[in-house]
Amino acid sequence: MSKTPTDSLQDAKAFIQDCLKQQMKIVAFSGAGLSAESGISTFRDKNPDALWSKYDPTQLASPEGFQANPEMVTDWYNWRRKKIAEAECNDAHRELAKHPDILQVTQNVDNLLEKAGVSPEKVVHLHGEINKDRCNQWSCGYEEEVDLQQPPRLRKCPQCNQDYLRPGVVWFGESLPEDAWNFATSEISQCHCLLVIGTSATVYPAANLIPVAKHQGAKVIVINTETSGASHLSDWELLGQAGDILPRLFC
Ligand code: NAD
Repeated sequence: MSKTPTDSLQDAKAFIQDCLKQQMKIVAFSGAGLSAESGISTFRDKNPDALWSKYDPTQLASPEGFQANPEMVTDWYNWRRKKIAEAECNDAHRELAKHPDILQVTQNVDNLLEKAGVSPEKVVHLHGEINKDRCNQWSCGYEEEVDLQQPPRLRKCPQCNQDYLRPGVVWFGESLPEDAWNFATSEISQCHCLLVIGTSATVYPAANLIPVAKHQGAKVIVINTETSGASHLSDWELLGQAGDILPRLFC
C-alpha cells in the first residue's frame, strides 16, 4: 500500500528527530523555491512569475550577455536587488535559523537566510551573492559590497580601471567558487540527512550534490511544491510550500 503525504511527513519527522537527538549531521541544500514565499521569483516552475518565462537567460545571466549589453544586465540585476532588499524572510528561512548546527548550502544569491538569523559562517553560497559586485576581469580580483536598496549603475572597476564591475553571482557557463564547492561537497558527503528545499535540481554542477549524499548513504528529504529532478533520489518527498512543511517537519 502506498504511503499518504501525512505518513511520509510523520516518517520524515521521526527521522529528523532522531538525527537531532543523536547529533547526526543534517545539511540543507536549497534553491529559489526557499525564497518564493518571500516574493522573490524563481527561475523555473509553473508560476507565470518565474523569471526565465519572461527574460532570456542567455542575455541576462551569461558572460556573453554582459559583454553584449553590460548596461542592460546591470539594470536588470539592480531591479532584482531592489526586490530582494524589500523582501522579508519567510517561515522556511525562520525555521532553518532555529537550527544553528545545520549547514545551509544554497544556490540562492539573496541573503534571506542570514536575515533570518543564520550565521554567515553556516551559509555556503554556491552561486555567489547578489549584494556584491566584482571586476569582470578575474585577474584583477576587486570585489565590493553594494547597497541593495540603491545599487550603483554600470561603472568601471576602481582598482584596474580596465573593465566594468559586474554582479558577484555565478552565470551560466561559469565555474562555481572553488572553496564553496569543495566545502559543500565534503560536508554533504558526510551527512546523514540532506534536506533538499525548493530546487528544480536541474542546474549543474550544484544538482550533483544530491546523488553525492544519496550514494554515501544519507537519507534525502525533498520539499517542493511539485515533483523535481530530485524526486527519484528522495527517501521522502514532501509536496507543499517550504514555509508550511519545514515548521511541521521540525516541530
Ligand atoms: P528553480 O527556479 O530552477 O526551481 C525552483 C524550484 O522551487 C521549483 O522546483 C519549484 O517547484 C520550487 N518551489 C517554488 N515555490 C516553492 C515553495 N514555496 N516551496 C517549495 N518549493 C517551491 O531554482 P533553482 O533550482 O534554485 O535554480 C537554480 C538557480 O536559480 C540558481 O542559480 C539560483 O542562483 C537562481 N535563483 C536564485 C534566486 C534567489 O536567490 N532567491 C531566485 C531565482 C533564481
